Amino acid sequence: MDYYIWTFGCQMNIADSQRLASELERLGHQATLDAEKADIWVVNTCVVRQSAEDRAMNRLLLLRGWKKRQPQKIIGLMGCLVGIKDTTLLRQKLPFVDVFLPPSDPSPMIEFLRDRRSEMELVADDERMRHHRDTLQDGDLILPAAEAGNLFSAHVPVVYGCSHACSFCIVPFRRGVEHSRPVGEILGHIRSLAAQGVKEVMLLGQIVDRYGKDVPDGPDLPALLRLTHQVAEETGIERIRFLTSHPNWMTDELLDNVAELPRMMPHIEVPVQAGNDEVLERMKRGYTAEQYRRLVERIRASIPNVAINTDIIVGFCGETETQFMDTYNLLAELRLDKIHIARYSPRPGTLSARKMADDVPADEKERRYVKLEELHAQISAEHNARWLGQTVAVLVEDLHKGKWRGRTPQNKLVFFEHPIDYRGQIIPVEITWTGPWSMQGRLQLGIETTPVCLETR
Ligand code: SAM
Repeated sequence: MDYYIWTFGCQMNIADSQRLASELERLGHQATLDAEKADIWVVNTCVVRQSAEDRAMNRLLLLRGWKKRQPQKIIGLMGCLVGIKDTTLLRQKLPFVDVFLPPSDPSPMIEFLRDRRSEMELVADDERMRHHRDTLQDGDLILPAAEAGNLFSAHVPVVYGCSHACSFCIVPFRRGVEHSRPVGEILGHIRSLAAQGVKEVMLLGQIVDRYGKDVPDGPDLPALLRLTHQVAEETGIERIRFLTSHPNWMTDELLDNVAELPRMMPHIEVPVQAGNDEVLERMKRGYTAEQYRRLVERIRASIPNVAINTDIIVGFCGETETQFMDTYNLLAELRLDKIHIARYSPRPGTLSARKMADDVPADEKERRYVKLEELHAQISAEHNARWLGQTVAVLVEDLHKGKWRGRTPQNKLVFFEHPIDYRGQIIPVEITWTGPWSMQGRLQLGIETTPVCLETR
């Protein structure tokens, strides 16, 4: 059967969808680009903000309409809207959904499909599984046919769940307690991606720098990076990144590894969320603005040419204009590369939704959002302008509106035009134009026919 997956939300959801796709491929199903014609529809949901939840619900309502006309189709609902707890109420609310899949767990769909198969089809499945068992290891991932050889940067979960309990965040309620993925499974996943043409891996966790803390004597993130680096050298993975870091767990050893291992990219994602200590305290983040400031200094001193990205929430419970301006001024001072800005959205069950008033009006949240976005655009433009005239190493990923699109070691977007398809290769591109959100360039003269692997930092 053909399947189509809509993925909302974070990188972890992208990885979860990939895991589901892999399991469906293993059973002989195929991805299709024609959503309406697919036999299996899956909506992988995010509920981190109300707006994300609304988008997922709208998609589900569309599918309910499609299913009225084609009742044999299978609808799967996956991810944080389902969560890890009892789904009875959700099942009553959404009776047209056939299968409910918690985050990172494709098994309910696989069992549902196997239950519907005839005896003969099950024998064929077992044959296929036996063949796969001979060739695949635990953790291996099968990319859909359209992606194998076309996907060059892939996500690899290393820590599932989260136990930090920031007061605003619904993730621990929906994804459960933090648990690290076994190292053998992670490395198997990376090897299988490399065998299918992937050149860059992004190791994922809600707090990725806590990798291994729940496993006595297991490797921690620096050790995992070293092991990943070895596998990368053996298999041709050119670039390694990781996200999202929490400021409290970014050790010097971790930063030194990023600086010293040549395939580790100079790119750190470390949310600050707010620049005022009282707000940080109410958010239960566990650090002060000054500690974050010192961390940024440490990262910049350790990793040459590093790009530091962050997340900010504006209009959190009780945030005054002065407290917002502390955040604004911290960013104006630190000039971080990229900021993911969110307007605070109370989420059911979280400490802030239960105990604190959502007292910043929507139009004020919007004003703070726009003010910070303007600063962000200005800082990003400055950062990108530094690359003007320089030659950067671009991993070419795809064609977008007639231009090749790729990323620099700092994860900055670069577009260029060229008659030759260099997708999946790292090539030198001279930057000829820069804006806040992307750069444009040209392939360096003289190398058009002999692309080189060149990492410039
Ligand atoms: N675990 C990471 C951390 O906070 O260190 C980030 C993961 S979280 C799923 C992604 C981002 O969503 C957060 O960094 C935060 O900025 C935003 N976010 C989470 N809960 C939110 C809420 N209730 N309202 C607005 N934004 C929120």
